[in-house]
Amino acid sequence: MPPIRVRSREAFERASRVLPGGVNSPARAFGAVGGQPLFIARGDGPYLYDVDGNQYLDYIGSWGPLILGHAHPRVVKAVEETVRRGASFGAPCELETQLAELIISALPSVEMVRMTSSGTEASMSAIRLARGFTHRDFIVKFAGCYHGHVDSLLVQAGSSATTLGVPNSPGVPHGCTADTIVLPYNDVDGLTETFQAHGQEIACVIVEPIAGNMGLVPPTPEFLTALSELTESNGALLIYDEVMTGFRVAFGGAQQLYHQSPDLTVLGKILGGGFPVGAFGGREDVMKQVMPAGPVFQAGTLSGNPVAMAAGVATLQELRDHPPYVKLDELSKRLTDGLHRLADAAGVPHQVQRVGSMWTFFFNPDPVTDYDSAKKCDTTRFGRFFWEMMDRGIYLPCSQFEAAFNSILHAEKHIDQTLAAAKEAFASL
Ligand code: PMP
Repeated sequence: MPPIRVRSREAFERASRVLPGGVNSPARAFGAVGGQPLFIARGDGPYLYDVDGNQYLDYIGSWGPLILGHAHPRVVKAVEETVRRGASFGAPCELETQLAELIISALPSVEMVRMTSSGTEASMSAIRLARGFTHRDFIVKFAGCYHGHVDSLLVQAGSSATTLGVPNSPGVPHGCTADTIVLPYNDVDGLTETFQAHGQEIACVIVEPIAGNMGLVPPTPEFLTALSELTESNGALLIYDEVMTGFRVAFGGAQQLYHQSPDLTVLGKILGGGFPVGAFGGREDVMKQVMPAGPVFQAGTLSGNPVAMAAGVATLQELRDHPPYVKLDELSKRLTDGLHRLADAAGVPHQVQRVGSMWTFFFNPDPVTDYDSAKKCDTTRFGRFFWEMMDRGIYLPCSQFEAAFNSILHAEKHIDQTLAAAKEAFASL
């Protein structure tokens, strides 16, 4: 018997009268899997509870930020103590410096940081900075990578842009994307040819060093090498968008895992511990071009908000003091190995791809290496699997093209519960 979801249904009807599509961000509307979203009443550790009182094991973690699970005591304490002293000052506070110092200690390529209130703002500002620093206009991005809803980057973007089949949103003028070159992910030849043709006009290359927005797609070592060599030899900046991977696949993100040193890094998600925070940072000579140190404009009323900074500081300190990454990797592997075994036994064609605690189960018989191969997935089958799991209390990302995330609280018993549910779900397909 699927759980009763009467109150969620009522809440969605009410929301749909005042919020477009009933939500404030499209991926939440469950459009890609058919059906209606659950309305969440609270989160506790690895669990979500909907307004009907049903419990779900949460593999979204607010789309990445909640590596410590919901309402982690250290984060809650820091937020409570901070907000009592006032929510926002519009003046500098020491927590901003503290969070910046933590970022810099984690990512050796980052020498200075600017805080924002979202990942979108951070990538938008990093692009402006790269153009201002190099005095060039062209930018290179990769199909299937998502860097937020920045006009110039909303070309063949992944995430909900993929899901909804609107790679180019209405409202983005041609002029905004005219200087954006889009290449296939992991395509060394395409990148090399582009630099041969336009090398001296390219301000920057922005990349998800592990793609999470077309489902989980790891980079090839050759791709990472080509990115750093071609940008360096052509005087372009390399921007790693580590909004998803930062503090997730290692404390120092994908750049630590793969021993890379980009010029600029974009951060978000875990950085804010569940609060609205983004940041971009990198080489001191580049960052010193940001206003008021330099001429490149960037600002924000709530940037460096004390409550959000406190949540970020508490989260990063917890990750630094008790590094969870080996255990996270082990338990995530136990899960994806199990899914692979069960799907094989049930005769379900699939690929499971994972880096650390980020993973995707693709309904695709062949490896997914770029946006074209991702689009070959059986999304109808994914939708059926999604609801079979949901009805068994397992809350997975509501799109084939989103990564799932384990938290430090997803223990063996939770993994085994998930595998038991998956066994039944595969059988029912
Ligand atoms: N970059 C990446 C890699 C992301 O995954 C996201 C959001 N999923 C963003 C940027 C945008 O961040 P935000 O939603 O906070 O604006």
